[in-house]
Amino acid sequence: MAKYIFITGGVVSSLGKGLTAASIGRLLISRGLSIRMQKLDPYLNVDPGTMSPFQHGEVFVTEDGAETDLDLGHYERFTGQETSRKSNFTAGRIYWEVLKKERRGDYLGGTVQMIPHITDEIKSCIRALDEDGVDVILCEIGGTVGDIEGLTFLEAIRQIGLEEGRENVMYVHLTYVPFIKAAGEVKTKPSQQSVAKLREIGILPDALICRTEVDLHDDVRRKLSLFCNVPQHAVIVEKDVTHSIYELPVVLSEQGLDDLIMVHLRLARPPAKLDEWREMLGRLIHPKGRVKIGVVGKYSELQDAYKSIFEAIEHGALAHAQAVDIIKIPAEELEDGTEPDRLLHVDGVLVPGGFGGRGVEGKIEAIRLAREHKIPLLGICLGMQCAVIEFARNVCGLETAQSTEFDKSTDHPVVCLMEEQEGVKDMGGSMRLGASPAHLQPGTHAARAYGARVVQERHRHRYEVNTAYHDKLQKGGLILSATNEDGTLVEAVEVEGHPWFVATQFHPEFKSQPLHPHPLFSAFIGAAIEQAKVKT
Ligand code: GLN
Repeated sequence: MAKYIFITGGVVSSLGKGLTAASIGRLLISRGLSIRMQKLDPYLNVDPGTMSPFQHGEVFVTEDGAETDLDLGHYERFTGQETSRKSNFTAGRIYWEVLKKERRGDYLGGTVQMIPHITDEIKSCIRALDEDGVDVILCEIGGTVGDIEGLTFLEAIRQIGLEEGRENVMYVHLTYVPFIKAAGEVKTKPSQQSVAKLREIGILPDALICRTEVDLHDDVRRKLSLFCNVPQHAVIVEKDVTHSIYELPVVLSEQGLDDLIMVHLRLARPPAKLDEWREMLGRLIHPKGRVKIGVVGKYSELQDAYKSIFEAIEHGALAHAQAVDIIKIPAEELEDGTEPDRLLHVDGVLVPGGFGGRGVEGKIEAIRLAREHKIPLLGICLGMQCAVIEFARNVCGLETAQSTEFDKSTDHPVVCLMEEQEGVKDMGGSMRLGASPAHLQPGTHAARAYGARVVQERHRHRYEVNTAYHDKLQKGGLILSATNEDGTLVEAVEVEGHPWFVATQFHPEFKSQPLHPHPLFSAFIGAAIEQAKVKT
């Protein structure tokens, strides 16, 4: 039977609850425990797949094809362990299940209520992770304590504490301790109130993790301990990290958080083995040089929209002990062709995925510049589709080449809807999703980077390179460096004679981790380092 750690957040959102949960996950794994991680999101969307990146940031895709919250990306990167469909549930998905049961008559005429029906469904989603051999289930509750929509989730985790016994369940509350400049001091009141809200429901936190921008002195810790009813050694300070989010597990471990967990959950395990993690941090904190990577996207102003991409670029740089400057170039800025300068000054160009026509011509222009000026390029998903359009237009002479996503009646639909997508009406969960094998063409950059013939990579798209154009594109010098088994779906393309130009239909960024940088990102950064040498 697994034990449970529940992570809630108070005062404000965006405190980095996901990162804290992921760091605890890393610590438990480093102590030899087998864990599962989960995020419960109290909003009503069935999954975040249809939500705008402006509101929700990146949609993370799991190996088994679930469109999930971006925190699952942190979980995978910190723990090195895959998440799945069972790792993210929303209130929408939970209500939907309950309503389906009600329609089927499963409740035998009973009144269907928040408690116990919704709470029972929430508990069964949490317990779905209790598989053989799992020691600890780490479950993060999205949102902030005090949100109306989160109430059933808090009630459900309170009940689990009662049912499993308090020594098998630990509640960790992440709170914010602000520094008020005018008063010259930090304030504990918001934390007191947020813990009071939890206690109202019947949850007594076992550890309080305090997000802060300044150091917290012992008197503040004492005060937090007393007013929030948490032992002083369980008041953990999580000050903003200096260099990288990957410092967090070490910061928490140094304050004894994992020891505290072991004691509370009655788990006897040797101290955390963090040697490999610390070695990685050493490379991150003391880089040997810097590379400059331009990311040409349509959500350039948003940090979260390309989360996994930015992380994977960092990992790729880490593989070469380099630091990286990520230059965000809004695709639309490149559209009138008058401002190529910023792009020409980077060492490598990355064109990420996306949906809809805004910024597409700018992405195509960025790809043209990278191809013609021999700047290393990594294109991902829509980035690959744009690379194919650019090649068709400017090398194969198909001037009107386009994707039918942007022009349904184009003369040259080099990118078109996949057959199984014709007639799809429901937008939610209906794309080609999750991992499938890509067969690599020997001798290509992709095959060299992976050192393998077949790889499993994750997808999230509806459109594909039109099979009717494969021959024409290849004759023009486009290499189809990866395809599905029967060669009908293009998985990656490269440009003959270019130092490093690889674009993939799949999303390699989802599988990159700081301890295991993704081979394509690592090879891309390697090529960018070479490019930087040529420039100087
Ligand atoms: N919009 C494109 C498609 O649906 C690309 C999707 C993506 O970049 N994730 O095929």
